[in-house]
Amino acid sequence: MAIRRDMAVFLEAAEITAALCRGRPCPPLLARTVETALETARKLLDPVIVDCWVAVAAVGDGRAVVQAEGDRQRILQIGPHARLLAGARQALVAAVSIGSRLDEAAGRKSRLEGYVLDCIGVMALGKVADAAAAKAEAEAGSRQWGVGPRISPGSLAGWPMEDVHVLCGMLPLAEAGLKLSAQGVIDPLKSAVGLIGIGPGYGGSTVGSVCHLCRHREACWRRRG
Ligand code: SF4
Repeated sequence: MAIRRDMAVFLEAAEITAALCRGRPCPPLLARTVETALETARKLLDPVIVDCWVAVAAVGDGRAVVQAEGDRQRILQIGPHARLLAGARQALVAAVSIGSRLDEAAGRKSRLEGYVLDCIGVMALGKVADAAAAKAEAEAGSRQWGVGPRISPGSLAGWPMEDVHVLCGMLPLAEAGLKLSAQGVIDPLKSAVGLIGIGPGYGGSTVGSVCHLCRHREACWRRRG
């Protein structure tokens, strides 16, 4: 298990406006608000990653059996896309967060600046998740294995939100300053948990996205493809 807080989160105004405007010209007011909000956001991010490696013991019938060192076996009810872990020998379970300060500030801002700050927070969380993915990629590379996509309960179609409890149950959340509610919501709100498989059964060397299998796809302004 590891807790990491030292990562820098690089965000540029151009990538935020590009994501928000999705190929359309960005209105000048929005562009100016992005610049202002980004300055604010840079002072408010408290990134953290808490992760652990698990062995992937079996995958089949919509389920995966995983086991962290010194822990009991846990069953993930991944559902129809469990095959995404079929190439895995190990998986990195990781919870990521940017802390609560950005959301608190967003609530005190004007509607537009609050919205933009919120969007910047979502993108920053994605960058922290990318840092976790880089760890999986490095480990896979050192073993001459490949990596699978990052998958999460509640996002991957058919994987119930309830498994957030299973993944978080393998991590020292409290030590990282995170807390899981009975409903499966991590506090601070801009947090997420998922896992990335690595193993000789994967062909790629970089963690892919599964936006095409995501239940939030239609509403998501960050989706890829
Ligand atoms: S559609 Fe959006 S929420 Fe779903 S995986 Fe892609 S970026 Fe994440």
